[in-house]
Order: sequence, then C-alpha cells, then structure tokens
Amino acid sequence: MPEPTFSLDVPPDWEDPEGLHDLFERLRELRPSADIRAIRKAYFFAEQAHRSQTRESGVPYITHPVAVARILADLHMDDPTIIAALLHDTVEDCNQVSLELVQEHFGAEVARLVDGVTKLKSKSIEAQSDGQKAAADTTAAAESLRKMLLAMAKDFRVMVIKLADRLHNMQTLGSLRPEKRTRIANETLNVYAPLAARLGIWQIKWQLEDLAFKNLHPNEFDRMTELVGRTRREREEALQKIIVETKDLCLKNGIKADVRGRPKHLYSIFNKMVKSNFRFEDILDLLAVRVIVDTVAQCYLTLGIVHQLFPPIQSLFGDYIAKPKPNGYRSIHTKVLGPDGNPIEVQIRTREMHEVAEFGVAAHWSYKEGNEAPAEDSERFRVLREQLFDWTAENNSSDFLRSLSTDLFAEQVFVFTPKGDVFDLPAGSTVVDYAFRVHTDIGLQLIGAKVNGVIVPLNTQIKNGDIIECETRKNAQPSLDWLKFVRSQHARNKIRAHFRKLNRVDDAVRGRALLEKELRSLGLDPKKFLGEAKLQALTKSMHGVSGAEELLSHLGAGLISVQGVINKIRGIQPGAQPASGILVRTTREGKSALTTNDNILVSRAKCCSPIPGDEVVGYVTRGRGIMIHRRICPNAQHSMEAEPGRMLPYSWPSDGSLYAVNLKIVTVNRQGLLMDISAVFGEMKANVSAAKIQTMPNHTAEIEVTIDVADTDQLQLVMTKISNYSDVISLLRLFGRAAAR
Ligand code: MN
Repeated sequence: MPEPTFSLDVPPDWEDPEGLHDLFERLRELRPSADIRAIRKAYFFAEQAHRSQTRESGVPYITHPVAVARILADLHMDDPTIIAALLHDTVEDCNQVSLELVQEHFGAEVARLVDGVTKLKSKSIEAQSDGQKAAADTTAAAESLRKMLLAMAKDFRVMVIKLADRLHNMQTLGSLRPEKRTRIANETLNVYAPLAARLGIWQIKWQLEDLAFKNLHPNEFDRMTELVGRTRREREEALQKIIVETKDLCLKNGIKADVRGRPKHLYSIFNKMVKSNFRFEDILDLLAVRVIVDTVAQCYLTLGIVHQLFPPIQSLFGDYIAKPKPNGYRSIHTKVLGPDGNPIEVQIRTREMHEVAEFGVAAHWSYKEGNEAPAEDSERFRVLREQLFDWTAENNSSDFLRSLSTDLFAEQVFVFTPKGDVFDLPAGSTVVDYAFRVHTDIGLQLIGAKVNGVIVPLNTQIKNGDIIECETRKNAQPSLDWLKFVRSQHARNKIRAHFRKLNRVDDAVRGRALLEKELRSLGLDPKKFLGEAKLQALTKSMHGVSGAEELLSHLGAGLISVQGVINKIRGIQPGAQPASGILVRTTREGKSALTTNDNILVSRAKCCSPIPGDEVVGYVTRGRGIMIHRRICPNAQHSMEAEPGRMLPYSWPSDGSLYAVNLKIVTVNRQGLLMDISAVFGEMKANVSAAKIQTMPNHTAEIEVTIDVADTDQLQLVMTKISNYSDVISLLRLFGRAAAR
C-alpha cells in the first residue's frame, strides 16, 4: 500500500464547507458534547481521499459520506460512528488509504467500524455476480443475506452505518440506470428495510420502504401521494381541531404536551390497500396524531383527556406501556372519532419512548453526555441484544429469531456457493461440513476445495462471507479422519452412514456366498435363484427387508437365517416339526445344558453360540450327545456336507434361561463412549458379562462385548438399539467367543 500523498493536518485558516457546517449545526443542537475537531479531521481526510471521485450524478463524492454522517447524527449516534461514517468508503474506494492508516489517525474503534462496513459492502449484493443477485431475489435467500449481514456486522453501529449508507444511496438513486435502480430498490425492500425493523430504527425503515416503493411502483406511488395529500387537505380542519383541543386541555391539566399530526408512510398504506383489494375508501385511518409528554403518568392522564374530547372507538385500543411489544416498543394507541366523524389514530408516549420507537438500537446506543463506563455499556448492550432479537410474537421466521436470541454473532457462519446461494452452518464448520450441507454426494465425493479462490485443506474452518468451491471426483471416498474435524451433526451422520453402508456391502457379499453354498448343497443351481429380480420378489414375502441388497446383507450379518430364505425359495412353509423336543436345565455352575426328552445331553457349540430363536441344527457327536449349531455356522455347514447323516433338525424356543452372545461394535472413538454404550445395554436389560475396547488409529474403536440374552427377539432389540446409536459404524454378532473372555 503506497503512502498517502495528502496532508492530514487541517490548516488553521480552513473554513468548514457547507455540508460539514450543517452537520456541526445539527450536532450542536442534538449532542453538544460531540468532538467537533475529530469530526473535522475525518472530513478533511475523507475529502482528500475522495478528491478525484464524483457520484453518478456528477457531484463530488464527499457529499455522500457527509450525508451519511448527517443521517447518523439525526439518530444521536456517537462520535466514533460519525467519524467512521465520514471514512466509510475511503478504504475500499481509495487505493491510497489502508485500514492501518485509519487506525493510526482515528484509533482502533473507528478503524474497526470502517473495516466492518467495508467488509459488509464486499459481501452485499452490490458486489456480487449475476447468479448471486438472482439468488438473492428469493425470500429465503434474502433472509439468509439478512442473517449474514447481521452476523458479520458484529457491532450494531456497523449495521446502523450501513443502513444510513443505504438510505442516502436510495435518496440519490435517480441518476442510475433503470435496471440497477430496480435491483437496488428490491434489495432495499427485501434485505435492508427488514434489518432496520429488526434493529427497531423506524425512522430509517419507513424511509427505505417509501423510497423503494417510489422506485419500484412509480405510478402507484404518485397516486398514493395524491390521495393521501387530498385526504389530508380535506380533513385538515378535523386534524387541526384535534391537535389544538388536545393541547389546550392538557395545558389546563398542567401537562405540557407536544401534539402533532403524523404522516403515515405510503408503503404501509399501499400494503393495506393490496390486502383490501385496492379500495382506498376502506382505509380510513390515514390521519394520525402523536402526543408526546414527559412522564408515564401523564400518558394515562392524556389518554383520559383525549377520550373526554373525542369518543374512543372501543375495539381499537392498545396499551403498550403496560404491555410493551416484544421489541421493547412502548406507547398507548387509541382510535377516536374525529370532529368530522371519521376515525383518527392517536399515539401517546413519553419522550424517551419516542426515541426508542424512532431510533431503536441507536437510541440505546447514544451516550448520555459522556459519563458512561464501558463495562456498563456492554452489559446494557447484552440486555438490549436480547430485547431486540426476542421478537417471538412478531415474526414467523422462528429459526432466525432463535439463532439470534441465543447469541447474535457466535453460533453460525454464512457462506456462499459460487452461484451465490447462501448456506448457514454452525460456527467452526469446515469445508467438509459445507460440502455435505450443499449435497450429500458432493460431501461423499469431495477431493478438494477453494475458499475465495484459494485451494485449502479440507479441514479449513470457514468464515462468514467465504465463497466456497468444491472439487469432486466420481468414485472418491470420504475419509474416517473427517470425523475428527467436522462440526455439523449433519456431516457427521452422513459420513457414518457411508461407512455403515460399506459394512453392509461386505455383509451382502458374505450373505450371497452363504446362500449359494446352501443351494449347491441341496443340488440346486444358484444362478436360477439368486438373480436380482428373483431376490427382489423374495423380499416381498419377508418382514423388515426392503430389498435384495438388504436381504443379502442381513443374511451375511446373521440377522436372518439361510434356512428361512431357502425355505422361501423352495416354497416350503417354515415351522416344520422338529424330530424331537428339547428340554433345558441350568447346571449348578450356572451354565446351561440342554437335554432331549430321552435324556441325551445336548450342548451349545462354542463356535457359533446359538440362542433360542436361532435357526439351529443338531449334530450327533460321537459320545458327547448332541451339539447344537447355528445353521449358518461354518462348522455346521461343513458337517452337513461331510456327514449329512449326523445332522438333526431342531427347533429351540425361548426357555427362560439366559445365553451368552458375543457382539463386535465398531464406533467412532471419543471420551465416555463405553459408558454410553453400556447405558444402552443396561436400558435393554442385557447383562454385560465381558467387554474389551480397542482404539484404532483411524479414530474408531472396536468394542467386543459378551451379553446375556434370552433369545433372538431380545438380541434383535438390543442390536437395533445399538445400531441406531449415532456413533456406531457397524455392529456384528460374532460366531464363537469374544476375545474378551
Ligand atoms: Mn457509501
């Protein structure tokens, strides 16, 4: 940044130019403590910085910052705000001015405000591509943009300067091309007027709306102006009568009241007319009177006086002093029958209430003549923030309000796609969070990203206003490492779901192999039965299976039995009688032993740990009774091929005993994990008799547990519960013993 070539010292014989002179007049009137010297220095600085520039209308550029400062002076804003307003376009527009230079001469606070306004500008629609502009035309995008601007402003004063800047630009819109005028007017109506309303700055809100209205609908605006003006002329007598009589009677009662006719703003009348199908005659409350008094008590006295003079229209009364509006607005509203028989709206409030109603956040901010401690101020500001943004009753955009009422600036970041769509994400989100937010496929296939045109690592945290471009490749895979840094629950869930699905694919391969083997052992050709269409048809007759893929993966995971599927394939109904019933007794050592009716010892095979409800087969051992295997157990499969004569069909219903089952759970590794998992077991009344946890280098953990369950129904419940747990990547019932034992 080259050094500035202009002087920063105001010459002693320098005479205040006209605009600056007017600003000082206004400041002396409203805020005598204003630092005239510092403001003059800021003007001198800005005037030189903008010297070679003109506005579109041809007037010197400096007229703009001075007008903005003047609007802010009217709002009673403080010195740093006025100074920052004078400087607000210097850093961006003038190559020779750096933020450091501003800070050097006007201090850190002013520099921060100027920087804030500059940043807002570069992210507002003015500086965006056509795609971004088009995107902002939708209501949702306008809302996102409002959120983003507010979040970026960080300091209310930045937003107030921005609003004043916009107001002056709207006032001088006439010299722009029509399309540009329409676009800026639209943006004003959709983005900035609502922001002014949020900040409670009615003064700016209605001016922005009326100016936008004038530019967007010039014919309607003219007609409205004419109609309202005519009505006013016709009713001037009634209006004057109510003003004079109210003032007089107040004075007789010792109240010095400021009573004025209040112009209603055109855009709100226009809106009302649109709602009532453009019947101007129906909109009777075009006239309004405002009474400003000193104290709350006087407000109520004045209300009595007004009602004494003019009969109130009962239904149209609101006491917002006793019951302030959620944004802190206080006033008494009443509607009375005017002397000409038409209704007139009357608002009664104190001076303080009036300031808050007109200036909103600015009224809260303005100093009470310089003896305010900064600490008090920030506390006041915090309360104010809560008040201002807790508009729950006022607005149906509850999401926005919630995000603001908890913490205005800290919780969310707002970023752009290259096309200009705005996305909001939790603060601390990374490029990966963003990718998943835009689209799951973009997240899953993400291989690289650019933030504001610069290639960055995927774990880069995104900032407000960043423009993010994702690079994807088909067949790319997400990494488990991403779970270490993603911030949003959404991305986390999608990544986990992906890895769960990978496990399902493995399971499906295993399931298909099991089926093929079984079919071959029955002398059937697998090709005839395992085509996609055949399997799909098969799932129609099965509960809880939504497709061929799921059928195979459930099979592979041991969630459904091979025999059950084979029976379906062969059209055989399940539930054939077993060759012999089985009784169960529990030995003194607590181990279960199984016996047949004829007292032959029956035991559970350790290789596959069957439980009641499993599809089981009995293997007649040599001298050790019958060994019960799960039908899908590889050993049983082998025996069925090698020694089919030794195999007996069995059914094994639940018998009231508990049986050990081994599970392997792969989860995302984090603190307190084991506790959370065992809580689920506890909840399901499944006793954990052994557990082992092993953490893996890729931020996962493998947990092997042995639990005691009564039958497959209970096991199924436990497994469903565990796999619904968001950290769990995969869950498998193991054959044989868990390594823990
Ligand atoms: Mn400006």
